[in-house]
Amino acid sequence: MRKIIASNFKTTHTRAATRDYIATLDEFMQKSEYPWEVYIFPPATALDKHGVRSDIRIGAQNAYPTVKGSFTGEIGKEQLDEFGVDTLLVGHSERRHIMGETQEFIAQKFAWYKEHNFNIVYCIGEPLEVREAGEDAVRRYLVEQCEGIDTTYERLIMAYEPVWAIGTGRTATPDLIEKTHAVIKKLSDRPLLYGGSVKPENIAQILAVPGCDGALIGTASWDVSNMVSMLEISMKQKDDK
Ligand code: PEP
Repeated sequence: MRKIIASNFKTTHTRAATRDYIATLDEFMQKSEYPWEVYIFPPATALDKHGVRSDIRIGAQNAYPTVKGSFTGEIGKEQLDEFGVDTLLVGHSERRHIMGETQEFIAQKFAWYKEHNFNIVYCIGEPLEVREAGEDAVRRYLVEQCEGIDTTYERLIMAYEPVWAIGTGRTATPDLIEKTHAVIKKLSDRPLLYGGSVKPENIAQILAVPGCDGALIGTASWDVSNMVSMLEISMKQKDDK
């Protein structure tokens, strides 16, 4: 069973700060022989391998479905290839709700990068009003967010990230995560992460949830000592859930 911890930097950290962060993390990973997969998604300006010697994988938070071309403000596959980046975050709620990416465009981006054999971390999750409308509404919403997506893709990692829990400090309860993960597991048998205000204080509880294969972490992972603490906690996780 794969176990995964991923960190989404969003627009936090410069290139220099990312290099320092990764150097510290790299040292921890080597010394501890950390057994889980670790993905770091720095901003586009900080894409690089940063001299990583352990198995830290660097991914991009976004890219346009093109090798290169006239897409002002975007980056394409050519820019990712330059840094050996072959992992992409797709469908993050901030891109859906702030940048206005539609399901149709997200599916197009997914298919294009799938065609180019990228590892894809695909995010889905409901806003508060849908959660408040009940389990059926949530299920329908999550099904819609999988429209046009090959949920059997072998290089796919799914992430359940309820919008109301992202960056709000409000975490979904273990019970809610377990129920919702059971719904998503019917849509995809790929590894499934939980994301939404995961932090050192709650990560043990979250990773212990049956059907949870790891965490996608924003805010609490930006401080590398916090990130290392969370990795240490994950190492104590039993495999028998
Ligand atoms: C995210 O943006 O993917 C995320 C989970 O953020 P946070 O941990 O800050 O809620």
